[in-house]
Amino acid sequence: MQLYTEQAARQRIRDLVRCTQAAAGLTGVPPYTGGEHPIANHLGIVIKETSLPLGDEGQYIPGTPPCIVINPAIGDPERRNFTFFHEIAHHLLRTDDSLYSFLHEYAATDDQCFDTVIEQYCNMGAAEFLMPAVTIRELIDQRGFSIRLIEDLEPLCPASKPAIAIQLAHCATHQCFVVVCEWREPPRKPTPQTAFISSTPQRPQLYVLYAARSPSTKYAIGRFVPVPSDHVIALAYETQCMVKDVAPILFRNGNREWKCECEAFYYKGKVYAVFNVSSPIPPGQLGLF
Ligand SMILES: [Zn+2]
Repeated sequence: MQLYTEQAARQRIRDLVRCTQAAAGLTGVPPYTGGEHPIANHLGIVIKETSLPLGDEGQYIPGTPPCIVINPAIGDPERRNFTFFHEIAHHLLRTDDSLYSFLHEYAATDDQCFDTVIEQYCNMGAAEFLMPAVTIRELIDQRGFSIRLIEDLEPLCPASKPAIAIQLAHCATHQCFVVVCEWREPPRKPTPQTAFISSTPQRPQLYVLYAARSPSTKYAIGRFVPVPSDHVIALAYETQCMVKDVAPILFRNGNREWKCECEAFYYKGKVYAVFNVSSPIPPGQLGLF
């Protein structure tokens, strides 16, 4: 099946997830807690838990058999769970010629590099495993878009609230960015330039752990961006409640010129925030679009 649009590609990764789950005989997926997992068993993937370079949460290694490596240093079970399904999505993507070649073509003509696009689609796949898009769309239509929906959706997906946040962004009908922020020592992807710096301990701080954008938003914002101490997200973390105000979008390049309404919600140790570039559509009106 040839894919021609981004919308079709997004649907394709979701269909691959649904088909995999059904073929494995599962109606919902159990969280990854180490050891074997029915999805990996079904796909013939070997799971290894081995130390990885600093900042590397997991890896997918194609081969016979394919292998997923999970970094046991990730202490947070929600992150480990999300990483596992992210690596599973790498496998689904790698073994689907139509999707893989579309992304290759699409990335080549876009201002984002191929690896960035692949990572976004793997996050999409991971989120779909943990929280189906149809469930989120229904709730957004009933209640209207708010980052607080995480609280309502958590009982359906207790194993990964970041997956809910990412899926909220993917299902948003307005233009927005969603970020998940936490307070700790930020991991940093070692590069030849930062290898020396990243080997020294970093000060704990509030930073962007995951970032996602709605389908209608053009630009992407990256992970591991520090949150300034005067930002709405920092205020939500300090006061441990919900704060709404105009605030700069946290782009990786440090550009803080673009401001919009930001809804930041402290929930169980992390801050979930949405930057509404356009206004969310009121409840019950999605059918009109
Ligand atoms: Zn990845």
